[in-house]
Amino acid sequence: MTLARSGPLPDEVPADRNGAFGALAGNDAGRVTPMMEQYLEIKAANPDCLLFYRMGDFYELFFADAEVASRALGIVLTKRGKHLGRDIPMCGVPVERSDEYLHRLIALGHRVAVCEQLEDPAEAKKRGGKSVVRRDVVRLVTAGTLTEDTLLDARRNNYLLAIARARASSAESGSQFALAFLDISTGEFRVTECDSAALGAEIARLEPGEIIVSDALFGDPELAPYWRSLPAVMPLARDVFDGATAERRLAAYFAVTTTEGFGTFSRLELTAAAACITYVERTQIGRKPPLSPPSREAPGSTLIIDAATRANLELARTLAGERRGSLLSVIDRTVTAAGSRLLAQRLSAPLTDPESIGRRHDAVEALLMDAAARADLRARLAAAPDLARALARLAVGRGGPRDLAAIRDGLTAGADIAARLAGLAQPPAEIMEAASALRDPDPAFAAELAAALAEELPAFKRDGGFVRAGYDAALDEARALRDESRRVVAALQARYAETTGVRALKIRHNNVLGYFVEVTAQHGEKLLGPPHNGVFIHRQTLAGQVRFTTTELADLEAKIASAADRALAIELDRFERLTALVTAAGAGIKRAAEALAVLDVTAGVAALAVDHDYVRPEVTQTLELIVEGGRHPVVEQALRGGGPFIANDCDLSPPSNAVCGRIWIVTGPNMAGKSTFLRQNALIAVLAQMGSFVPARRARIGVVDRLFSRVGAADDLARGRSTFMVEMVETAAILNQAGPRSLVILDEIGRGTATFDGLSIAWAAIEHLHESNRCRALFATHFHELTALAAKLPRLFNATVRVKEWQGEVVFLHEVVPGAADRSYGIQVAKLAGLPAAVIERAKIVLAEIEAEDRTSPARRLIDDLPLFSAAARAPASPREDPAHATLLAAIAALNPDEMSPREALEALYALKLKAARKEG
Ligand code: ADP
Ligand code: MG
Repeated sequence: MTLARSGPLPDEVPADRNGAFGALAGNDAGRVTPMMEQYLEIKAANPDCLLFYRMGDFYELFFADAEVASRALGIVLTKRGKHLGRDIPMCGVPVERSDEYLHRLIALGHRVAVCEQLEDPAEAKKRGGKSVVRRDVVRLVTAGTLTEDTLLDARRNNYLLAIARARASSAESGSQFALAFLDISTGEFRVTECDSAALGAEIARLEPGEIIVSDALFGDPELAPYWRSLPAVMPLARDVFDGATAERRLAAYFAVTTTEGFGTFSRLELTAAAACITYVERTQIGRKPPLSPPSREAPGSTLIIDAATRANLELARTLAGERRGSLLSVIDRTVTAAGSRLLAQRLSAPLTDPESIGRRHDAVEALLMDAAARADLRARLAAAPDLARALARLAVGRGGPRDLAAIRDGLTAGADIAARLAGLAQPPAEIMEAASALRDPDPAFAAELAAALAEELPAFKRDGGFVRAGYDAALDEARALRDESRRVVAALQARYAETTGVRALKIRHNNVLGYFVEVTAQHGEKLLGPPHNGVFIHRQTLAGQVRFTTTELADLEAKIASAADRALAIELDRFERLTALVTAAGAGIKRAAEALAVLDVTAGVAALAVDHDYVRPEVTQTLELIVEGGRHPVVEQALRGGGPFIANDCDLSPPSNAVCGRIWIVTGPNMAGKSTFLRQNALIAVLAQMGSFVPARRARIGVVDRLFSRVGAADDLARGRSTFMVEMVETAAILNQAGPRSLVILDEIGRGTATFDGLSIAWAAIEHLHESNRCRALFATHFHELTALAAKLPRLFNATVRVKEWQGEVVFLHEVVPGAADRSYGIQVAKLAGLPAAVIERAKIVLAEIEAEDRTSPARRLIDDLPLFSAAARAPASPREDPAHATLLAAIAALNPDEMSPREALEALYALKLKAARKEG
């Protein structure tokens, strides 16, 4: 764009919103003012952000930005001035409330460039009346790079995730991905690798606030639909993901010559890590968040849980999207925000190494045994502020006096806690490590902060008054002068009242006039005439008052202002120095913050275990899974006050002569408790592996590497897939991915289609799980026919949830026992649900007739007629020896549901059915 420049250059009047428009806008002739020129230049450098252009007390938005923001924020869109002959749309937000508006814009997926005035307007004036205040963008606000408390959820991490891909070397090997993720509000920074099958699960685990990928990866035809389904995915130019410069960029950020000291990283991991760093630098512009050097998570070190399973098991939030009612909400007994974040982290990424898990259990056990130490610890923790986030804000120049106080209080609480922990008998390793991290920061450091900070602290440093009296002699002097001058003003007012005889004379202050003498209109005349007009200089006449100044008052004002300015300048300097001290000690503070979080989580889990009678699970390298007297952690707490929760056993361990775990088929009527039973066992495994105690009498868990959970016929209308389609796509993912260490929960799979279809699919799925995946699994179903499979598949076990019939009513006992349900009790349940009596009666008659007919064609034969069953029946020992069956399984195995469109998946399903039918014929 060429900018015409001619004609007079208007003045800039930044303090006053309306005045500013004149400065911004050119005139009708299409001339562009210097300020407009500045705006356009800055905007051009930040094309994909909304530009918050600072003008005095407002951030103003112009042109298309203004239109977008006014719609998004519901603020008034005005038109002021003209640019190239057209009105300039504009809207603005007051600086003081800008966080709130930022929050809303970021939540809606926008990015904001914050452009500040980099000098006092007075400075600009000195360069000549027409000069524009220097401005530039000081920060890009994006969803993944937030530091403000007001923009963040205190109890959740907010990750920026960079994903780099290495293309497959051969067709079978598939692409490899490196993931680097950091939370600039806490400094955590980690990298890991995964294959394409685990990518979705990793993203679901991290729930990043923002994802960055290269343009090429973003545009990849296979992945593009996936990126679109995620919030805040940002494509970036290739240089950000340049592998050749990655190591250098990383080393430069951490001011080291090589990253080798941080550990061994693959080239791909370095690329992703460097992309994160470069993005942080681009958004923070000259500010350095206190990031830890990247640490590597070994692939496979955490339990892989895909997005659907997380949603299904309601780990961090319920299916309705709420935290309340989720597993996290019922186990969260932490008393600090950092503890709450760590707990969420641990829940989202349970471990797979029994030894590391055992260390966490040891720590919980120690605090469980010592009730007094636990109570004391938790009380002290509750007083510890969020060290990590205060540190991050200070380091990026967005901190305030209260952040310094948070560091002071956090370190003090930490030191107290360390001292208290020293009294523990035989503290386990995890607690000892935490205690030593808490002893690490130099006590003189917290003492310095304590000496410097006043009792009451303002929210912003610009408000001043946060440095304690007596800490800085020069500051005390400036303050004394300022306060003394104020007393002189009072004396002056008394003297003027005396000499003029106007008793109501007042000396007041406002931002426009500064100090002035004010009298009512009635006395104004007196001061305007001799002899007073020799002293009093008229400034302003209002409806009721007349205002004056005097030479003496003006002098005094200058003195007051300079003393106050000097006091504030000294305070700000002190603030910078204290902040520098804090930043320099950043690494130690961060370790202390982590230690506090670990202790909080550990004590919280111990408290939970005490209150709800959880036990320490045994986690082993075997393939066992034994739960005795297990309970559902959420349902149990929800039932409090209602009936008792019926505890149930589960054993998926390999039978004595087998190497792989069992599959339980759980039958029983609706409402019997099947779903609850399935989930509770999955949740117990998750809890055990995250390092928590578990709701059971006893639990022995052979480490699970992947957890899958699916429910039949879940709705996913938002993504435009039929419920059955979703069910099948998800089931396909399990059948393709589950291995012997996996735990699979399938709840009423096959429910979403016609009975025979559904039954056949469920049947084939069980066979596949048993023969190919060979995983531990729980399969709830209302197809009683499936229980017949136990006769053929040796590791299959039938369990049913007991019900009692009593006077024609069904009574749910919620008790899981060996055996199979013989019937559905559907009509009894329908009756309980309040279906009209006439409908119930009619249904009974219909049922009786169908059952009578059924006797002539026994259920057994019905099953034998099923194509898949016949196939299985022909080859009972190993269905895979049957070549037709093997073809079918191979066809299923060849499917990659993650890469299919719903339509392709449906077609594949038809093809499978056709194949199955053919081998029957
Ligand atoms: P199903 O899947 O068999 O239809 P659910 O698992 O959904 O049954 O359970 C239905 C309801 O029964 C649950 O909401 C819960 O209130 C209750 N329930 C389930 N299991 C138990 C149990 N073990 N003890 C007490 N109440 C239970
Ligand atoms: Mg159910």
